[in-house]
Amino acid sequence: MPARTGQQYIDGLKAQQREVWLGGEWVRDVTTHPGLAGGVRAIARLYDMQHDAQLRDAMTYPSPTTGDAVGRSFDTPKTREALEARTRMMLNWARATCGMMGRSPDFMNVTFAAWGAAADWFGEKRPEFGDNMRRYVEHLRENDVTLTHALINLQRSRNLSGMFNLEEGTALEVKRETDAGVVVRGARILATLGPLSDEIAVYSPRLARHSDDHSPFAVSFSIPCGTPGLKFLCRDSFDLGRSHFDHPLGSRFEEMDCIVFFDDVLVPWERVFLLYDVQRLNATPHVTHSTAHSAHQGAAKNLAKCEFVLGIALLMTQALGNAQLPHTEERIGELMLYTELTRSCMRAGEADAAIDQWGVMCPAILPAECTRNLFMTAYPRMIEILQLLGSSSFLLTPSEADFNGPLGPAIEQYLATDTIDAKDRVKLFRLAWDVAGNAFGSRQVLYERFFASDPLTRARALAAVYPKGEVMERVLEFLGKSDEEW
Ligand SMILES: Cc1cc2nc3c(=O)[nH]c(=O)nc-3n(C[C@H](O)[C@H](O)[C@H](O)COP(=O)(O)OP(=O)(O)OC[C@H]3O[C@@H](n4cnc5c(N)ncnc54)[C@H](O)[C@@H]3O)c2cc1C
Repeated sequence: MPARTGQQYIDGLKAQQREVWLGGEWVRDVTTHPGLAGGVRAIARLYDMQHDAQLRDAMTYPSPTTGDAVGRSFDTPKTREALEARTRMMLNWARATCGMMGRSPDFMNVTFAAWGAAADWFGEKRPEFGDNMRRYVEHLRENDVTLTHALINLQRSRNLSGMFNLEEGTALEVKRETDAGVVVRGARILATLGPLSDEIAVYSPRLARHSDDHSPFAVSFSIPCGTPGLKFLCRDSFDLGRSHFDHPLGSRFEEMDCIVFFDDVLVPWERVFLLYDVQRLNATPHVTHSTAHSAHQGAAKNLAKCEFVLGIALLMTQALGNAQLPHTEERIGELMLYTELTRSCMRAGEADAAIDQWGVMCPAILPAECTRNLFMTAYPRMIEILQLLGSSSFLLTPSEADFNGPLGPAIEQYLATDTIDAKDRVKLFRLAWDVAGNAFGSRQVLYERFFASDPLTRARALAAVYPKGEVMERVLEFLGKSDEEW
């Protein structure tokens, strides 16, 4: 099946029974559940963009297997132009969700596309794993599969510096092998998009955070979300069932986060990509360059998010009449700075892209990683700026029902400003509150702080690829010393 429509995506979710728990209830149909259906519709709209006459060429490319149009985020670009075309596709999706669905399917698509190109790496010691990866990536692309992922093991304590503290009975581990596959048990976090996906991928993105005694925990695989023994436990839904007026983002873009329990789940051999190989697990993101591709996808999302927050801030200050105040200008300038830094890093990633050992035009790693690390502190600061600019206006936000009730005329009179009527002001500030205040907005801040791992791991990831020698040499030259003398 080539690039799917939204309806085909929804039909796929309906067709696969899976165990999704929300608020103590087993959700039998995620596509109609009030806490999840909004997010399903948002993802469906992304898939529909692949069939929009205006966008089709931007969103798809010819399948290397069939020639049919398939999602462009599955592409492994061979030229800078193809890489840029993939970015434009990802920006289209990111802008369609205002950057608020970090786990739109392209995130996983670019990761697995990179692994498909680097399948030999997975097959180096066990050739069958390379073949599994090759076949799986083709399956993803040709069926336009929506993937979630759960990379982090739960830990009972964090008493090892910079290492995972993995224990039997909590972390996900391989319990036994059978003729059919491996049986895994344990828990993982945090599967964003879990209930809205067709399949779940399990691997580790971390740089050297598994030690040799972690080999039973070293496993990478992908299985359908309906696989027996697999259970998704949702947090509270932040789609409160309100109108688009009352809850503009929460009613549209709830992507949900889940703990995933694996209760003696059988992973068929053909879906295993790595087993007991700690070194390979630790090295995979860097050797395959999947980290550069996923960071580049993240940069597109970050740019869409920066643009959206900046746009809201500009409209807010216009509405409140404080746009010309010096401290407002300074804060708006800071938002512009983050927006343009993000755009620049994304563009630099493309301008300095090079064909890698897997034959893929790979975004330059440093600017790509920088957008990730920057956003962990920049996004919370952007939200702080929105709060500083908006102050009490965030709370002068009567609901749609209030406008239609007896206080409607008073609201219309007193909440109007010199530049905007009361209804538009409230509409704008309810949107801003979804970004900067309520549970939906707070979760976005937490997401940007942690989705790409904790700050220490991110700092180490950047340091691991940074050309430190160059800058040290410059100082040594100033000191009149050579490398050998130092
Ligand atoms: C909204 C949201 C969505 C997410 N979506 C996904 C997803 O789709 N898929 C996925 O796999 N993951 C996802 N994540 C999980 C994310 O990868 C983890 O949150 C992240 O890796 C941090 O792990 P943790 O939450 O266990 O934090 P912790 O590891 O508990 O970190 C908390 C703090 O303690 C510090 N710390 C912890 N342990 C150590 C240590 N040993 N040494 C030194 N400092 C330490 C950290 O630096 C950090 O400041 C998501 C997270 C969030 C918040």
